[in-house]
Amino acid sequence: MSTTENNLQAIIAHAKEYGFVFQSSDIYDGLSAVYDYGPYGSELKKNIKDYWWKSMTQMHENIVGIDAAIFMHPTTWKASGHVDNFSDPMIDNKDSKKRYRVDHLLEAKADALTQAGEAEKAEELLAKMNALLSTEDFGGLQELIIAENISCAVSGTKNWTDVRQFNLMFSTQIGSVAEEADTIYLRPETAQGIFVNFLNVQKSARMKVPFGIAQIGKAFRNEIVARQFIFRMREFEQMEMQFFVRPGTQQDWYNYWKETRLQWHLSLGINPDNYRFHNHVKLAHYADAALDIEYNFPFGFKEVEGIHSRTDFDLKSHQEYSKKKQQYFDTEINQNYIPYVIETSIGLDRMFLLILSHSYAEEVIPKEDGSTDSRVVLKIPAVLAPNKLAILPLTKKDGLPELARELMKDCMPHFKCYFEEKDSIGKRYRRQDAIGTPFCVTIDHQSKEDGTCTIRYRDTMTQERIAISEVKKLVLEAL
Ligand code: ATP
Repeated sequence: MSTTENNLQAIIAHAKEYGFVFQSSDIYDGLSAVYDYGPYGSELKKNIKDYWWKSMTQMHENIVGIDAAIFMHPTTWKASGHVDNFSDPMIDNKDSKKRYRVDHLLEAKADALTQAGEAEKAEELLAKMNALLSTEDFGGLQELIIAENISCAVSGTKNWTDVRQFNLMFSTQIGSVAEEADTIYLRPETAQGIFVNFLNVQKSARMKVPFGIAQIGKAFRNEIVARQFIFRMREFEQMEMQFFVRPGTQQDWYNYWKETRLQWHLSLGINPDNYRFHNHVKLAHYADAALDIEYNFPFGFKEVEGIHSRTDFDLKSHQEYSKKKQQYFDTEINQNYIPYVIETSIGLDRMFLLILSHSYAEEVIPKEDGSTDSRVVLKIPAVLAPNKLAILPLTKKDGLPELARELMKDCMPHFKCYFEEKDSIGKRYRRQDAIGTPFCVTIDHQSKEDGTCTIRYRDTMTQERIAISEVKKLVLEAL
């Protein structure tokens, strides 16, 4: 069996054809960087959520969950720094009117230099860019773009505007009378819903530091560069956990969460060579250490999750703006303090794309007569697969569907099953391969005689005969 390299375009087409991901408002030609999840996509997404939620709130006694609203008091975003700082330097091409993120333009130039064998020059360019970004020297950034001879991909010209800051938050109005309405924001991260509820949760759930609060929910960012499918969206979902610790212990907890989160990814059976850590050089205004967990997507290593040591920045700032004390009394050391925070933040949609990238394979299968066959298969980890088991009666008659239905009834309450009696068995296997079903069971005439069936394993395509009564147990064990 040989496998073709993952290819983003093939994955996008497959995701649409098999009901995983559709462009939003497709019949109106779509809305840029917004996507809908179809029947199998919504199952896969939910399974990823459940896998994360369980690992956080069920497997850690000291982590509890919340579900905060998307709308928050506008002062939240002053306190968090988003009103003043959540922006990217942008530059427009005057001829094409196309807007670019400055760091993306310069990084693309550095990539081109590296590919042309000029890695040293690329390093130098990135170092210059980082220095200018950290001092917010916009004039310097524009000069660098011009000095590097960077042109617009659309117009081909170097006719650039000044570099300007562009805030990524979406705003809207709350209140019924337009003139009196207040501007509020769609949250650009779920984290602040956790911070403003710190004391509510600590007191109501009687938590003791160190403890964590986990949340899954939508976030919105008016991303300028909207490409790479569900990697960068304007409406997306985050799975975030803020872990509150005693000041001074943050480095140890940072290391703990860095390893724990990598192990979560590897527990899905994903190749460790496709992961790496990327330590941040330029830290955000709230952080004293930060790294990305990067995955080798079809377009290269990119961030899927961030681990940030956020210090006491957020709670302190909310204390200042709200004038409400955000302190915790630590009975072990008889001290009041504002806890430090380690954040783990993973994009659910990016994790979804990671799973598709890991799973998608086009395989050529040699046949006994010397010819070849082919298949597209999604080798989705069984625990995340939309359907766990397909139950396939060989024919529509002779009591086989009835026997198959009995198995269906037995398994359905425990995991998601799929029943299909149309088409040849070969075709039905291929369809299940394409949506990533790890197990198929065929009920045939022998099943009626001796109570056995054929189970077929997706990844190896091997088949074996087992008792029908064993099927449920076998699938449950694999999950
Ligand atoms: P990037 O540098 O790629 O814009 P970021 O550093 O701004 O990401 P964070 O603010 O740390 O991202 O957000 C945490 C996680 O949320 C990211 O690791 C990513 O998985 C996810 N995420 C962020 N922005 C988007 C987006 N526009 N679309 C989908 N997922 C996103």
